[in-house]
Amino acid sequence: MEASKVSTPSTKRTSLERFRLKRALETIGKKEGRGTQLVSLYVPPGRQIGEVMGMLRNEYGTSSNIKSDFTRKNVQDAITKVQQRLKLFKQVPKNGLVIFAGAIPQNGQGSERMETYVITPPQPISVYLYRCDPKFHMEYLQEQLKEKETYGIIVIDANDAALATLEGSRLQIVRAETSGVPGKHRAGGQSARRFERLRDMHLLSYYKRVGNHANTIFLALPNLKGLIIGGPGPTKYDFQKSDSLNYMLKEKILDTVDTAYTDEQGVKEVVERAPEILKRVRYVEEKKVVQELLYEIGHDTGLITYGEKEVKKALESGIVKTLVVSEAVDILRVTVKCNNCDYERQETMKEQILPTFEQNLIGQPCPKCTAPSLGVTDTRDLVEDYAEQAERVNANIEIVSMETEEGQMLKNSFGGIAAILRFRQSD
Ligand SMILES: [Zn+2]
Repeated sequence: MEASKVSTPSTKRTSLERFRLKRALETIGKKEGRGTQLVSLYVPPGRQIGEVMGMLRNEYGTSSNIKSDFTRKNVQDAITKVQQRLKLFKQVPKNGLVIFAGAIPQNGQGSERMETYVITPPQPISVYLYRCDPKFHMEYLQEQLKEKETYGIIVIDANDAALATLEGSRLQIVRAETSGVPGKHRAGGQSARRFERLRDMHLLSYYKRVGNHANTIFLALPNLKGLIIGGPGPTKYDFQKSDSLNYMLKEKILDTVDTAYTDEQGVKEVVERAPEILKRVRYVEEKKVVQELLYEIGHDTGLITYGEKEVKKALESGIVKTLVVSEAVDILRVTVKCNNCDYERQETMKEQILPTFEQNLIGQPCPKCTAPSLGVTDTRDLVEDYAEQAERVNANIEIVSMETEEGQMLKNSFGGIAAILRFRQSD
């Protein structure tokens, strides 16, 4: 949308982008052509459209050597489609561009239909690639489903501490500290109380040192999503209680985990468990959203609405604060058009109904011109449709998984679609 909109990295935004990409990859990844004739094109940011067009012209020329008439025609048609789509762009979008085109058999041999998909990736792509294969090349987009945010890691015990950053899958140990704190056993002749006091002082100044480094390193990261603290013993808790960490970092602590080691080994232990931790963090967020829905309903505040039609209405009147949709909603918005006249209508149906629906359309008279020329020309995920509308009115979007009880409740009790409103509906 508007370029001026400040987009702070939030799991909400990410949940939608990830969902979109996941759905697209699922759909496109399943497609198979007959023989080597599906074209995949990856254009990284910074390339000139003209240069890519030139490359495609060359490929078109080369493809005239293909012996099979059937394959040659399909490959050339696919390249033409890609060129047509590419021409619509004045320049390559900031994250690059991916175009897929190819003849896909719809219903056995001879039923091929040219399908084209244009994807603007959520993160910059780095490959420049043209391929013609029996399947579309999804692997470079697949990569983008992996987490790319930055996390801070502190591993600490009474002897050592290590600070690390985890950016996507890139791990960097930024700093290692040694406490210099004497062991728990005092030397002979020292008073026990004095020894304890000295040791505590040493520990406190060690925490302070580690804390200062953590504040400097982690607060400077613009995309820091959270902090995970690990370590073998109780020191990691004492450290957190010691107030050495800046309050902004404290708020970002996602979890505290036991590790067998400190140092690099301990950091790696934390990284191994990070995906599970992050998943749990997301589940907590999801639970909160659904619990907010339940609260509004329980207190009859009038600030929530649910169900496909009701939410659509609320979206259209621009009063949605947060759109909440279950990942499991499998409803399609289907466009039916007549081949003979300009008749067009939209229908909403469950995904699994679509094949039967299409079958039943065959031979049915058009309501306008009565010719038996009706066909499905476009299908769209309802979630996608709603998400787009929500973006238009600047609403938050939460795509909720089925992994929590609350997520299942959203699907089963509210049909998977609900909205928290900015104010009561007037009617
Ligand atoms: Zn018609």
